[in-house]
This record gives sequence, C-alpha cells and structure tokens, in this order.
Amino acid sequence: MSGVDLSIVVPCYNEAAGLGAFWERLTGAVAPLGLAWEAIFVNDGSSDATLEAIARLPASTGAVQVIDFSRNFGKEAAITAGLDHARGAAVVIIDADLQHPPETIPEMVRLWRQGTEVVLCRRESRDADSPLRAFLSGLFYRLSAHLFEVKIPRDVGDFRLMDRAVVDALSRLRENQRFMKGLFAWIGFRTQTIEFAVEQRTHGRSKFHLWKLLNFAVDGITSFTTVPLRLWFYVGMALSLLAIAYGLTIMLGALLFGNPVPGYPSIVALVTFLGGLQLIGIGILGEYVGRTYKEVKFRPLYVIRTVSVKEPSHARPKAFPAKPRSGLASGNAAKAKR
Ligand code: UDP
Ligand code: MG
Repeated sequence: MSGVDLSIVVPCYNEAAGLGAFWERLTGAVAPLGLAWEAIFVNDGSSDATLEAIARLPASTGAVQVIDFSRNFGKEAAITAGLDHARGAAVVIIDADLQHPPETIPEMVRLWRQGTEVVLCRRESRDADSPLRAFLSGLFYRLSAHLFEVKIPRDVGDFRLMDRAVVDALSRLRENQRFMKGLFAWIGFRTQTIEFAVEQRTHGRSKFHLWKLLNFAVDGITSFTTVPLRLWFYVGMALSLLAIAYGLTIMLGALLFGNPVPGYPSIVALVTFLGGLQLIGIGILGEYVGRTYKEVKFRPLYVIRTVSVKEPSHARPKAFPAKPRSGLASGNAAKAKR
C-alpha cells in the first residue's frame, strides 16, 4: 500500500467559484482525523477556471492529485477516473458544490474503522429539489425496486465511503454506459447507511436538468434490467390470443349469419394500433441493440490530458503526461487485460 489512508474523490465541472470554500471545509473536517490523506480533483472538461482554482489550493495537510480530462466526459466518468487513481485504503466520493457536507466524513471513517466496507450517505430530505424532480426520482426508485436485478438504495447518491476492496471490485466493471448507482449496488459488500442534510448549492447551478435526468433513468433501466424486452413478448402473446379470438368470432358470425361487408373503420383502427405497437417494440429493441453496439467498441471511459500530484511535504508540484499509470489511466485497460 502507498501509505495513504484516505482518498477523497471530487468530480468538478465548472466549480471554480466554490472550490476555495469547499477546500477550507474539507480540510477543516479531515485534517483533525490525523490520517495520511489525499484529495483527487477530476477536472471534467470545465470551461471556466476550475483547473487554475484547483492548482491554487494549498496542499497543507493532505496531498492534492489533479486529473485533467481532455473534454467533458460526465460525472460518472470523472468518478471512475478518481477511483482509478485513488491510492487510499478507503475512498470517499464527494461533490464539489458543498451540497455534501464534508463534516460527515469523520463519522464515515469511524464506521469504516469498525469494519464497515461501504458507508452510504442518505439525504434526509429532498427539500433542495424541485417538486417535479422529487416526484420523478420517487417514481424511479419504486420502478427500480420492481424491475432491477439489484436493489438500489433510496435517496442515496454518490456521496459515500468505500473500502479498498470495494474500489478494486468496482474498477473491474468497465462498462461504458455507467449507471453508478446500479454498479455500486451490484458489487455488494457490508454496508451501513448514515443520514445527512443536503445543503443548497453554494455557487453556480446544477448541471443535471430534467432531460438529462430522464436519460439517466433510461440508462439505469436498460443497464440493469431486460424486463422491457420481455414485456414485449407478453404484449405480443396477449395480442395474438386476442386476434385468434376475434378471428373465431368473425368466422362463427359468417357461418351463422352469412357474410355482410365487414367494417372498414375497424380494420384501419386495428392496423394503425398494431403498427404503433410494433414501432414501440422495435424502439425498445433498438435501445438495447444500440447499447450493445456502444459497449463492443471498448472505448476508454475517459481521456486524460495530464495528471499531477502535489504532496503535502514538498511544495513543488510534479506533473507527468497521461501515460497509463498502474495500467488504469486509459480507463479501459482493466478490460483489455482480460
Ligand atoms: N459534475 C461533473 N461532470 C459533469 C456534471 C457534474 O464532474 O458533467 C460534478 C459537479 O462539478 C459536482 C457534482 O458532479 O461536483 C454534482 O453535480 P451537480 O451539483 O451539478 O449535480 P446535482 O447536485 O444537482 O445532482
Ligand atoms: Mg450539486
């Protein structure tokens, strides 16, 4: 082991304004623990001065690693990169916008020292969310409870602590379409949940608007269940049975009462209805095929411009180019090794 006890992964996308305050509260919460710790900032292709803001942070008690992405790859990729580069015996993932209070970390570490492998942080309320967002996420959790292969804990986001064993297990899941909530749930391990109060964003705005969240939900559903595909099989069966019954009634009618000209409108209605159903079916099929296509390309999950580490003891930052570091910097190396 590298001698780092605790790594703190911070995905950052246009967070320049709030980083100073975040760093102050983070160091305030973590330094008293007396651990060897590091923060890993992943600059996810920010268009503001986030990278410069990170570079200005003083590495007084903990080391500062900076991973600079070549463009915006999304929060899930940023977290994955952070986990790949984390050296600690435990890793915490936290948002940079101070919605996740760093003061919760000591409690997480306490539980970890007692042998808990995953400490989840559940938000006490969804007051910080719009009513629509709260309603939709409630719907999503209910749906996922019925459909998914794994149980997604409710109101638990990325804010969590994971033991090294958990991080290593997670790093072996290299799927491209990363629905982290599902991946976290899939790996298992001894888990405890603590509550925290979500705070309002200190600076800037949330990067997740409704459309993105909706797509996120579709990602989750298609990554963790094939029920929609199977559903279509049942719909087809039910419709065939109905069609047979309908055919029989028509035949019987023709035998018993002769054959008056059958209704044109009912035929049109049936044809359009069935056409519509078939299109939906093809659409769902296409969604899964598309996902398979994306996965078989084996593209790396992210591309790094530079990685740099500022150790707390020496003041001078050393930067090195994005060469595979322990074979994982290119994001997909773990998969390639299989
Ligand atoms: N984030 C990121 N890449 C993105 C979008 C967001 O790294 O493409 C980071 C962002 O900087 C923040 C965290 O993910 O630290 C959570 O983002 P945000 O606060 O916008 O999401 P919300 O709290 O509304 O879920
Ligand atoms: Mg936020």
